[in-house]
Amino acid sequence: MKNIAILGGGISGLFLANLLEKYSSFSYKIFEKKNSLDLTDGYGIQLSVNSVNLLNKLGFEKINSNDVYFPKNVNFFDISTLKKICDINLSQFNFDNNRYTTLKRSKLIKFFLSNIPKEKIIFDSDLIDIKEREKLTLSFRDKNTEEFDYLVAADGVYSKTKEILFKKEGLPKYFNSIALRGHIHNFKNADISLYLGPNFHVVIYPINQNNEFNFISIIRKQLSESEISNRNLFNDKIFTHNLIKQISDKSNLNLTEIVKEIKCFPIFVSKKIHIPQSKNIFLTGDAFFSFPPSFAQGASQSIEAAYELFTDLTNNSTSYYKTRISKTKQINSRSSINHFAFHLSHPLNIFFRNIVLKYISKNESFLENYLGKIYNN
Ligand SMILES: Cc1cc2nc3c(=O)[nH]c(=O)nc-3n(C[C@H](O)[C@H](O)[C@H](O)COP(=O)(O)OP(=O)(O)OC[C@H]3O[C@@H](n4cnc5c(N)ncnc54)[C@H](O)[C@@H]3O)c2cc1C
Repeated sequence: MKNIAILGGGISGLFLANLLEKYSSFSYKIFEKKNSLDLTDGYGIQLSVNSVNLLNKLGFEKINSNDVYFPKNVNFFDISTLKKICDINLSQFNFDNNRYTTLKRSKLIKFFLSNIPKEKIIFDSDLIDIKEREKLTLSFRDKNTEEFDYLVAADGVYSKTKEILFKKEGLPKYFNSIALRGHIHNFKNADISLYLGPNFHVVIYPINQNNEFNFISIIRKQLSESEISNRNLFNDKIFTHNLIKQISDKSNLNLTEIVKEIKCFPIFVSKKIHIPQSKNIFLTGDAFFSFPPSFAQGASQSIEAAYELFTDLTNNSTSYYKTRISKTKQINSRSSINHFAFHLSHPLNIFFRNIVLKYISKNESFLENYLGKIYNN
């Protein structure tokens, strides 16, 4: 029986483990860097139908209906006037039980964990070396060394596997943007609200049936090398407060009052696509490619990638990277276009952008090409 090491117990790694557990005879172990997985984290995640369709193969549709929300539209607003620009009907891409879904990330992790035997997750694991002999030999900092047939690197945007394989080239780059995350209780709009401001945007959406909303803002910000590497900066309450105040002052949403438990972190994205030389090492999820967060596809693509990899491993085929590269290019270009359009600052550009948005948000062939192609895998 072939054995698989999964590095990283995030969305991609845990989804793959669920597929292996339910549908294969492979043996596997998950190596997670942290000492536990956070099952209380209240931050939200959006899942489009392409990933919900795959999650439903594991019975995701049976998740407690109070813990999920099914937004029908994404509504675009100008953040300074709060006037609606346009809306896109997301439910047009739903089919049967496969619906655009929002929920707390921790609920998704809990769902994954419920199907994985505890002994298959090894916490506090820190990979330091990979040797390819007859099998792959993985060495960890605690001196543990184990052999596997395959290594699946699902260790996220700061992938250690990529650093080991590709040195500096494998490291992600700062995207000149900072993310603010928080919670809102009882926001006035249901569905997904996307507020466009000069050099920033804000997304607010419900994450369950209890009037809890996720707040996320992406703010353009140049930082020096020393600021980027200074982790204390992002935990600094004054730095975070100044950022929320900066965007709150440009809107009538009273964000400083309504957003609670705000956290701040720098956004890193992949420099380019890397393919390991070894046929037995696979990169998946953010470790394969980390997108700008303006298309809400990171988690969904991590799930899709894990499914494609599972299909390749079980069918002994080799189409994983070909399919992934093509999909990654499509998502990356859409994420970059969105990021550019959402952050326009010159009034004339904003005026024309809003006209274009009004038109394309109701243009069926555009929507089918821009969203449908991604959502209907
Ligand atoms: C601000 C922001 C908002 C986002 N919002 C959305 C959204 O609404 N919808 C969406 O689809 N996506 C969203 N994403 C993207 C999404 O969160 C990620 O794409 C997704 O979590 C990637 O899954 P993953 O399994 O590849 O990595 P992760 O979920 O990051 O998991 C990686 C795991 O590997 C572990 N790990 C790290 N290093 C090691 C190591 N050396 N050894 C062992 N384990 C290790 C980590 O502890 C972690 O558990 C957002 C991202 C950002 C930055």
